[in-house]
Amino acid sequence: MECPKVGTRVLVPLARKTITGLVYRIHPENTDDSVTADLKLRDIIEVLDAQPVVLPSQLSLWRWIADYYLCTIGEVMAAALPARLLDNDYTERTEVYISLHPRFTDIEQLQPVFDSLKRAPKQQRLLEYFLELSDAFDGTPHLVEQRQLIEHSGESTAVLRTLIEKQILVASHEVVSRIPSYDTDIEPAHPLTEQQQRAVSEIHAGFAQNKVCLLHGVTSSGKTEVYIHLIREQLEQGRQVLYLVPEIALTTQLTDRLKHVFGKQLGVYHSRFSDMERVEIYKDLLNSHEPKVILSARSGVFLPFSRLGLIIVDEEHDSSFKQQDPAPRYHARSVAAVMAHAAQANVLLGTATPAIETYHNAQTGKYHLVEMMERYAGMSLPHISLVDLKRQYHRKEMYEHFADPLVERINAQLADGKQIIIFQNRRGYAPYIGCRKCGYVPKCCNCDVSLTYHKRTNTLVCHYCGYAVTAPQVCPTCGGEWRDFGVGTEKIEDEVNGLFPTARVARMDLDTTRNKNSHQRIINAFARHEVDILIGTQMVTKGLHFNDVSLVAVLNADSMMQTPDFRSSERAFQMLEQVAGRAGRAGSQGEVVIQSFQPDNPLYAYLQKHDYAAFYAEQLRERKAFRFPPYYRLIILTLKHRDYTRLDTAARELSERLRKAFGTRCSDVIVPPIARVQNMHIRTIRLRIETDASFAQAKTIMMQQVRYVQSLPNCKGTIIQPDVDPM
Ligand code: ADP
Ligand code: ZN
Repeated sequence: MECPKVGTRVLVPLARKTITGLVYRIHPENTDDSVTADLKLRDIIEVLDAQPVVLPSQLSLWRWIADYYLCTIGEVMAAALPARLLDNDYTERTEVYISLHPRFTDIEQLQPVFDSLKRAPKQQRLLEYFLELSDAFDGTPHLVEQRQLIEHSGESTAVLRTLIEKQILVASHEVVSRIPSYDTDIEPAHPLTEQQQRAVSEIHAGFAQNKVCLLHGVTSSGKTEVYIHLIREQLEQGRQVLYLVPEIALTTQLTDRLKHVFGKQLGVYHSRFSDMERVEIYKDLLNSHEPKVILSARSGVFLPFSRLGLIIVDEEHDSSFKQQDPAPRYHARSVAAVMAHAAQANVLLGTATPAIETYHNAQTGKYHLVEMMERYAGMSLPHISLVDLKRQYHRKEMYEHFADPLVERINAQLADGKQIIIFQNRRGYAPYIGCRKCGYVPKCCNCDVSLTYHKRTNTLVCHYCGYAVTAPQVCPTCGGEWRDFGVGTEKIEDEVNGLFPTARVARMDLDTTRNKNSHQRIINAFARHEVDILIGTQMVTKGLHFNDVSLVAVLNADSMMQTPDFRSSERAFQMLEQVAGRAGRAGSQGEVVIQSFQPDNPLYAYLQKHDYAAFYAEQLRERKAFRFPPYYRLIILTLKHRDYTRLDTAARELSERLRKAFGTRCSDVIVPPIARVQNMHIRTIRLRIETDASFAQAKTIMMQQVRYVQSLPNCKGTIIQPDVDPM
């Protein structure tokens, strides 16, 4: 057998199974025995590929990810390759195509056929349709898809079969691509505004110094147009571009825009595509070196680029760029930087609300900062007003969860024929229910959380593990009646229907968007103004552009700031500024109404002034005082075990040992707010390392202790998951 190449797939025996593996490295023959001395070697059964399916550049990126994020390279591989590519059970998709029988070479020869079909009008008609669709004698004859022919002609397959039996037509199976082709009419890109032109030349200047660029542009400043311009430049130089967005399913508007500008040069790598479709995009990129722009969520960093020129990370602050579970717990923004550096490509980060760490890098000169502070076409940023919920409730000037001033504004906008977005960051009807008599609250049987009441399905659902039961009529312990607590999008929908009975209402949250195209349907209906009020969770905050939205309402902004997390203010600011940015993107100035029990929170003052820089400066002071990023790097160790005692022992042991090594950089054992999920008890330990210290060395020391604790008999079976740079 010939020696397989690095990056090819091979079949190998493992225990009693045969599995597919990837050739990662080749050891020179009979040299250094010390490498293989302790290993049990097995023979490769079969080499599956002549050419690598994974490029050397990908393998070295995988290595970096595994080292930096403390996981195995196998875990990276599982995330990086579409499952079917590795399993080798990818099958090509075929369709039945119809062509003219080869005995006909000239249109004249068909005349007798038509004559013979005089008594069979259906066959005749089908043949006519075929000739029309195939241009059979007009240059190169086209194959006609059987499905298309049947649909077009309205005839049955039986009629077609007869024509095939008569040797007039032939059917064949042809391999077709699953990748949707964006072969639409190409439109010219918009000419750039002066502000956008200046941004482009400043970005070029930053790239010339080999720096990552941060494009800090307010909402609706037209960052997309700047990206399009830069992408075009790369394509013209024959290079490839990776365009990363937080959640691809939420960006149908962006996909449409790019389709019109780049046509066939656009590829979309979609979490909602099937695995088969992903294999095709992967292979297409591997085998062709054409200029391309790939629009993708975070996993796009694993694609095989050979001529990468630019990576754009749009909405770079968004936490969905970080993979939480399972490993590799990577951040696509960091991986993109490493990937681009290796490929001598550039990185552009874009957002209206930079991550604190990113803006810090821009302030300290590590990144090149480019700003666009004006909205496109001279629009003003939205006007933000606050409603004091304490006062409203006290004066009884509330209708359910809507304060009177908000109701008044919504009515005014509706009367004006405008659209409204209402943001409520909880789905379901009520976050929990309790018995009026005995106080009993239904909890998940697998997790330490109360169950969320979903009225539409009459179920109680755990939002952590997915457990769901039919909601009991009355309290199972005492027969008392239920009362619901808190408020989710379903309840808001009911209230809106009651308050504004003539308005057309839609709801967009995880529950209404489970089907493949449901997002798109809701967004399109809203864009066509078939809906007046759109209620939604964070899904409505991201990247949408609607001309007629004049009012955005945030029903309870405080809830976002109450999580015990050093990033909660940052997240709240980003989310509020982003959702506010949906208002007034065309026409008149938009308005935002925020309801809050703490309207004096300084965050709102920054928001009202759209003053990101001032907000950043305050956050930075807090980060420094409380020893958080960007001054410290964090690692969170999550310990899990079904057995509470073992978990407790392992957590104490590990924290004690780490405290010896790291002093106060290591926390005590932390009991997380939800201390049991899917029957696993959970503890965490947090480590912070000064940014100027050796992170690699700290990680090595930490992992030694982790392995030691895992080897202790009384801690046996404890899962310990490191999360580096947690979000
Ligand atoms: P951002 O991503 O900064 O929020 P967008 O790129 O979505 O902003 O642009 C906002 C709106 O302004 C879009 O409808 C876009 O088509 C329009 N726009 C921006 N720049 C231009 C331009 N140079 N010419 C025409 N329309 C533009
Ligand atoms: Zn659960």
